[in-house]
Parts: sequence; structure tokens; C-alpha cells
Amino acid sequence: MGGILVIAEHFGEAIREITREMIGAAISLRADIGGPVVVAILSDGAEALAGQLNISGVDEIRVCETGSPHFDLAVYEDVTCSLGAELRPRLILFGHTANGMACAATTAARLGSGFASDVFGLRWENDGLIVTRGAYGNKLNVELAFPKKAVAVLSIRSATFAPATAAGSAHIVDCKFDLSNVGGRTKHLEYVQPVANGPDISKAEFILSVGRGIQEEKNIPRFMQLANKIGATFGCSRPVVDAGWLPKSHQIGQSGKVAANCKLYIAFGISGAVQHLHGMKHVETIVAINTDASAPIFGVATYGATVDIFEFADALESQFN
Ligand SMILES: Cc1cc2nc3c(=O)[nH]c(=O)nc-3n(C[C@H](O)[C@H](O)[C@H](O)COP(=O)(O)OP(=O)(O)OC[C@H]3O[C@@H](n4cnc5c(N)ncnc54)[C@H](O)[C@@H]3O)c2cc1C
Repeated sequence: MGGILVIAEHFGEAIREITREMIGAAISLRADIGGPVVVAILSDGAEALAGQLNISGVDEIRVCETGSPHFDLAVYEDVTCSLGAELRPRLILFGHTANGMACAATTAARLGSGFASDVFGLRWENDGLIVTRGAYGNKLNVELAFPKKAVAVLSIRSATFAPATAAGSAHIVDCKFDLSNVGGRTKHLEYVQPVANGPDISKAEFILSVGRGIQEEKNIPRFMQLANKIGATFGCSRPVVDAGWLPKSHQIGQSGKVAANCKLYIAFGISGAVQHLHGMKHVETIVAINTDASAPIFGVATYGATVDIFEFADALESQFN
């Protein structure tokens, strides 16, 4: 018994990024947990998807033909429980996605395992797993352990763990399951693309972000226009959202979005609280503008200016007129 089982997510002919992120998270724990990292793909075209998961650190890919390309809660639950019984992993990872949210908790209930959803931190301590997730509407972080549980099922927050990408040489194993009495309680009708609602922070490469330093709601349009002018996506810290000045889709940080693909981040009047840094500290080039030289944002900034944000904005604007 041991190891980590990752339940892959895919859409059409592509593996979704959350799968590589779960594999990254699994690899980071494998030395402590011991045993193999096994990735299971459930689909009618599972074989074709397997090549995309041949990633360094993955020991085995289980190709589980389910007869349908679509997600079916009962099928996912049943196959995961069968794999759990056979492989006896210590940890089973789902994405904290529409699919993962549907079946992670029910799978955990069937297995009698430990469970935590929307996990954004993982560590191994005193021979046990500790996970971090939000609580009370993400106002608090809580750490959970799973004493006396042989298995833990987790759903993993997207854009949080570094994706594993290096090519590997995993062993590919075909699996057959008798699913004749499973599924059929739900029927896939169609995929409906969500209506674009605000910026896609996780895809943006250049972000101009504002914090409480902008002082008043009436200053929002000015910085939004500046962002448009210089070709940046407009982001913000949480107090700006809490005040109702911008919708939640703009928020960067632990209870907002991670700027996963950002290369340049300009922070106007943001102090750099740890929860904000969670969403942007990895960015290659960070420019911080803050009058307080001791603000923690300068600890992660590539370039900093201890000047008034309105003065800085004037100077920047004038360069683009
Ligand atoms: C569980 C939990 C989850 C959270 N999740 C998030 C999250 O996802 N994202 C997030 O951002 N926060 C989050 N927070 C809140 C976080 O702790 C901070 O309160 C928040 O990030 C602070 O935002 P801020 O930097 O805009 O404001 P402040 O900390 O108030 O900083 C404002 C900064 O502006 C500077 N400033 C003021 N006026 C000017 C000026 N004229 N010119 C230049 N600089 C100026 C000040 O020196 C100050 O450093 C979370 C908190 C908790 C407890």
C-alpha cells in the first residue's frame, strides 16, 4: 500500500492544466509518502490522451475506457473506488473543478477516507499529511490532518501548484471495468461556454493591479484606463473588492485568482500581505509603487518606487500619450 493516485481531467482531446498541477503536487510529496505516482484517465479515448501525461515523475498511467468522452459522476466514483481498492494509495487527488467537486466527496464517503476540498497547501509533517484550505468564506486558513485515516481524498485548487511538464517514461496500463450497472443516472446534453465575466486573471501576461492605496472608488476608472492604455489586464487586491469598487473576478490572491501566466505585474498601492503575494509573488518581473518603504511588497518586487501612486500614474501616462 502507498503512493498517490491522480484522477486526470480532460476536455475534448486535451488534458486540462489542473492535471499537470496535480501531478506537480503529487511529485512534491512522493518522497515522503512513498510508493508510485499513478495517473488515471477515464474516457472513451483514454489511450489517445495518455501520451500527454507521460510526464517525468509519473510511474504509471492507467487508461480506463469508460465508453463515453463525457464526465459521469457514478462512473468516476466507481472507477476511482476500484482503483483505490487495487492500488491502495495513501492519497487520491481530484481537481477542485466542476467534475472534481461532483465526485471527490462522494468517493471519499464510499472509501471511508479523509477528505478536504479546495486545497491550496500540502505538506508532510511527523509522518502525516497536513493540508491547507480556506474557511468561513476564505476569511481564515485552516490546516487539516487526517489521523487514523489510511487514505485521504483531496480536491486541489487550480493555478496553485506548479505544473509538472518534463517528458517522462511512465508505464501505460489498460484497465477494464464492468460498468454495465454503473452510470446512466445522468445524461450529458451539451457543453455551454460560460459567459465571459470580467478579466481572466489566470491567463493574463501583463497585469496592472491596484490596492487600498487608491483611496476612493472614484479613482478606479483612472487606473482602469491606464491599464487599457498600456495593454495590461486590470487587477486588484481584496479590500478593493470588499469595498464593492470592482467585481471579484479582478481579485488577485489566495481567495481570488492566481496570476499564473503573468510575466509583468505592476502593483499600485498594495502593501503585499501574504494572501495577496500568494497570487503574484512568482511573477518574473514585479514593479511596486508604494510610499511606505517598509511595505512587504518590496520584498518580492524586482523594481520599486517609493512615490505617490497618482504621481507615478501621471508619469507613466505621459509616456503613452
Ligand atoms: C483568509 C484570507 C484571505 C485573503 N485573501 C486575499 C486575496 O485573495 N487577495 C488580497 O489582496 N488580499 C487577501 N486578503 C487580505 C490581506 O490580508 C490584506 O488585507 C490585503 O491584501 C491588503 O490589501 P492592500 O495591500 O490593498 O491594502 P493595505 O494593506 O491597506 O495596503 C495599502 C498600501 O497602499 C500604500 N499607499 C497608500 N496610499 C498610497 C499612495 N498615495 N501612494 C502610494 N502608496 C500608497 C500604503 O503604504 C499601503 O502599503 C485575505 C485575508 C485573509 C485573512
